[in-house]
This record gives sequence, C-alpha cells and structure tokens, in this order.
Amino acid sequence: MSDTMQALVYTAPREGTQLREIAQPEAGPGEVILQVAAVGVCGTDVHVWQGGHNLTNRVVLGHEFGGIVAAVGPGVEDVQVGERVVSETAAVVCGTCIYCRSGQYNVCPRRKGFGFAIDGGMANFVRTRPAILHRVPLHVPMAHAALTEPACVAYNAVIEKSRPRPGDHAVVIGPGPIGLLCAAMLRLCGPARITMIGLRSDAHRLELARRMGADEIIVADEEDAVARVRAASDGFGADLVVDAVGIAATLNQSLDLVRPNGQITKIGWGPEPIGFSLDRLVAKAATLQGSFSHTYTTWERVLSLMGTGQLDVSPLVTLYPLEEWHAGFEAMEHLEIPKAVLLPNGPTLANAP
Ligand SMILES: [Zn+2]
Ligand SMILES: [Zn+2]
Repeated sequence: MSDTMQALVYTAPREGTQLREIAQPEAGPGEVILQVAAVGVCGTDVHVWQGGHNLTNRVVLGHEFGGIVAAVGPGVEDVQVGERVVSETAAVVCGTCIYCRSGQYNVCPRRKGFGFAIDGGMANFVRTRPAILHRVPLHVPMAHAALTEPACVAYNAVIEKSRPRPGDHAVVIGPGPIGLLCAAMLRLCGPARITMIGLRSDAHRLELARRMGADEIIVADEEDAVARVRAASDGFGADLVVDAVGIAATLNQSLDLVRPNGQITKIGWGPEPIGFSLDRLVAKAATLQGSFSHTYTTWERVLSLMGTGQLDVSPLVTLYPLEEWHAGFEAMEHLEIPKAVLLPNGPTLANAP
C-alpha cells in the first residue's frame, strides 16, 4: 500500500471540493515528484470551485506551484532530488504537432493542464515532468516563486505579444493578479504613463496598483475612463490597452481607449457573445490580439527578473496553510486579496515568514 497525502480534491463545485487523504503520486519513467512548497490560487481555481467551468472530472486543483524535488523516475537525468523548482502548467502535450515541434506547446491542441485534466499542486506532493521544470534563483522564496506562472501570463501578453515601446501610454483594465502583474511588466519597458482601470468593488486590489507600477488609477463606475485617458495624453488615447478582464464591456471600452494604430491585447476570457460592431477597430487601424499561457523561455526570463529583484511580486501574496484553503478562496471570491498562496508543507519549506 502506498503512502497517503492531503490534497484539495474537486469532484463538484463548492461542497464537492474538499481536503482529502489520497495516495501519494509515485515517479514513473521520465517523471518527477515535487514536495509542494507553495501553490498560488488562480482566479480560475476559484471559478472552478464556484462551478463556472462545468468541470465534471475529479481532480486535485492548482496549477501555480513550486517545490522541492522529492523523487525522480527512471530516465530522468537533468533534475536532482533536493532542487528548488517551479513547474509550468502544461502537464501533458502531444510532442508531435507543429506547435510542440516549434516550442509553442502552449497552443498544442492536445495540451492538458494541471488542476483541470491532470492532478495539480494543491497537495503535499505532485507529479510533473522534467521538460517543464525551472530552477528557482537562490534568494527567491518559494512562496514568491509560486507566482511565476501568472507573471509569465503577464510577460507573454505585455512583452512577447504587445511589444510596448518606451514612452507609450499603456492602460491596463482589471486589477486582478494578472492585471497587476501586467502593470509591473509595463513598468520595465519605460512607459510614459501606466493607467490602471478598475471598479469600486476592486478597491482593495486597486490599492496595490501603484505599488505594482501604475501611475494613476481610474474607478470606471465613478468617472469617465475614456475621457480621462484621452485627456492624459494628446487627446487620441492609449498606445496599448491590456484587457485583463475580457468581457464584452471591457472590449468595448478598449476600442474607445485605444488610439489610431494602437494595440489591444486581450488576456481575459469572456464566454458571452460581444454584441457590438468592431468597426472602431477598422476605423482606427488598431491591432487586437489574444494572448494565452507561456512557454519555456518566458519562465526563464521571469525567474531572472525575480532573481535580480526587478520583479517583486510580494505585494500580491497572502499566505494560508493548505488546511485553510477555504478562507483563501473566499477572500479572493470577495475581492479582498488578489492572490492566496497555499503552503501544503508548512512555512519553512516555502521560506515564508
Ligand atoms: Zn492561473
Ligand atoms: Zn502538440
């Protein structure tokens, strides 16, 4: 009989998600077992728990995790037991499609993610694979390294997809963790101005926007965001709008905010039909692009930025023991904090206070 461990197991929304005693994963050929030091709660974890994803399979939640290598299976040579690593989210990719073969496996059609189709990191141990592991720089606490994943989402959207130029006026809509990290990425690019747009209900998270790099904050249900953004520059609007919300209303607002020849990068999801014309996109000759996930080089760059101190994610982090996961999920649901980080094996392993 194998050893057991604690894991946050989803079988159904709300009461169907609980801490359970389940079998510890073992390392098969080409596999790596991590003792999880820290695992971030993503907005999508909260959404799955609320029933918003209509997930019907049983799965251990969590795709933003790092830990200590506890075991390696036969054939694993480039990772050693005891190393501090973070794991990417693409638990399974096909390895043979054109996207996998060209290193763009984030859009592999057969990609399966941790915490959705494959058991994730909200547990004492998790099974992953060496090709998606990255060493964590010495002085970066694991409790911060757990935010590498959302930081990579922001890096891909802002740096790789959008290519902002020094002197740009950039607008971020949505002060969730991804929006706040987008502000931090933009700050590294020498912008003229970073504007963060949120709602009155975002008050707690908007307080962090300045610490993450925003120059000004607009509360869109109290003031005219479009008029303020236009007035802040030459009257034409923003060079770059990052939509970290994604619903029809924010895409509509993005089309008003963007200047002619400007860019809109959409990271947030919005499953409902948009219900308005995209003629403003044509008339402004603006670029609208999606951005999804990240790949190996994104992770290496973000970890370098954390290692040198140029990216500080600490303002976003609120720590909870795994046993108190429910409090963390609720605090995020009520928009009290941008990100709960769960510590499945206690504060010492996470280098957390
Ligand atoms: Zn996530
Ligand atoms: Zn593939």
